[in-house]
Amino acid sequence: QAVELPIHEAVLGRAAEFAQRPALIDGVDGTTLTYEQLDRFHRRLAAAFAEAGVRKGDVLALHSPNTIAFPTAFYAATRAGASVTTVHPLATAEEFAKQLRDSAARWIVTVSPFLETARSAAEKAGGIQEIFVCDSAPGHRSLIDMLATTAPEPHVDIDPVRDIAALPYSSGTTGIPKGVMLTHRSIATNLAQLEPLATTGPDERILAVLPFFHIYGLTALMNAPLRLGAAVVVLPRFDLETFLAAIEKHRITHLYVAPPIVLALAKHPAVEGYDLSSLKYVISAAAPLDADLAAACSRRLGLPPVGQAYGMTELSPGTHVVPLGAENTPPGTVGKLIPGTEMRILSLDDPDRDLGVGEPGEIAIRGPQVMKGYLGRPEATDAMIDQDGWLHTGDVGYVDADGWLFVVDRVKELIKYKGFQVAPAELEALLLTHPEIADAAVIGVYNDDNNEVPHAFVVRQPDAVDLFEGDVMMYVAERVAPYKRVRKVTFVDAVPRAASGKILRRQLRERS
Ligand code: ATP
Ligand code: MG
Repeated sequence: QAVELPIHEAVLGRAAEFAQRPALIDGVDGTTLTYEQLDRFHRRLAAAFAEAGVRKGDVLALHSPNTIAFPTAFYAATRAGASVTTVHPLATAEEFAKQLRDSAARWIVTVSPFLETARSAAEKAGGIQEIFVCDSAPGHRSLIDMLATTAPEPHVDIDPVRDIAALPYSSGTTGIPKGVMLTHRSIATNLAQLEPLATTGPDERILAVLPFFHIYGLTALMNAPLRLGAAVVVLPRFDLETFLAAIEKHRITHLYVAPPIVLALAKHPAVEGYDLSSLKYVISAAAPLDADLAAACSRRLGLPPVGQAYGMTELSPGTHVVPLGAENTPPGTVGKLIPGTEMRILSLDDPDRDLGVGEPGEIAIRGPQVMKGYLGRPEATDAMIDQDGWLHTGDVGYVDADGWLFVVDRVKELIKYKGFQVAPAELEALLLTHPEIADAAVIGVYNDDNNEVPHAFVVRQPDAVDLFEGDVMMYVAERVAPYKRVRKVTFVDAVPRAASGKILRRQLRERS
């Protein structure tokens, strides 16, 4: 079951088979890299990295929006023996410096528009040997020029079981982002576990709009399709019209997105203006997706039900997926447990007690995809992975009689109202069914009687003029048990979200 290969071998091992097929297509200017080029370029660049001094165990920070060069840089770095820590391209110099320091990075790969931030981060952090640029910038070596090296390909002895391939940082939704040590084996094995369930074959055309730097994009939009021989159309950022135009132009077949994009596909008027008939599947992950919203999306696009997957950075990242083409899947499920992985649902009151069908508790996972640990944070690692190897996800879920998993919300986000528990995700989903609400987020706040109550942040639809606090509270009150009622409403222009689509409830808490 376990795949004990370096990640670049696990992904590009079959590149010769797909030689002249397109691997990566720039969604803006159409520039294409074939599999033959991707394979050759990443080997050349690995040689150039080694020549520049990159050694086994070094950490290389990859700081770039999605481009067709991103995978070449990534696999070249791992082939040279480095661990890649991916950095949010819009991170501030301060945030970037923190990640450089935390990961003890020695090398940076960036792009010219973000070079100034990278330079300033390197200066603040110290310890950086060189900053390379993917395109070109005065005073820095360009990856394109480095491809011309005549240095021999490095033969680094990689131990897939122990060596760290990737060091992504968790989203920082609940606290500070933590460096997650993922070995070559954990990532390669998770790809193999997901492949038979979540992919259909080399004819897939994928749109890479979620960021490669986050584990979801890195897996679903880069590693998985490139291992399969599929074509990946790359967009540097999400903009609805560009995104829809790219689906039409490139005849995209599979969309891997997060709930905010499902929301746009279900509700936004712009969707009507494009031919999206090439689409076969829409898959959502990274945050709770409401069943009604998912149904509205698939109805509007004339597609099979929107499938979900579940995972987290610490799980390389997947454990559950709704198999593509599965029939009669219950609405709202995030999928079934993938092979070679164990799950328990543990009581929130008594963590030693396993719960049965239909009973919500904390999801715990054991399997080859569990991270090696958080970099430099042994206590945080021990708090998450117990002595028997079970990783406690911090998510609440339950399984039905057929083994389908349903995620309720995060343990930390549950609102405890007079002994009852209210899941913000449930109220958010309900609010989104209101025709005049474009987006919504819910947090728990303490009222004057010191009870934790739901506080909704609501974005009005552009044409909604007479939607007021009382209307929102009434709408919810008519549809839920009294203890779940929204007790406070604030209208906002936008819901703050992480790049992976997650609601940043911490930021809302500061505003309440
Ligand atoms: P941090 O751990 O730094 O606070 P984070 O948990 O948001 O950030 P990620 O690893 O990117 O960082 O996200 C994993 C989390 O995303 C899961 O623990 C879960 O809460 C949520 N998630 C992922 N997939 C789904 C899904 N299909 N439905 C509901 N929630 C999901
Ligand atoms: Mg987390």
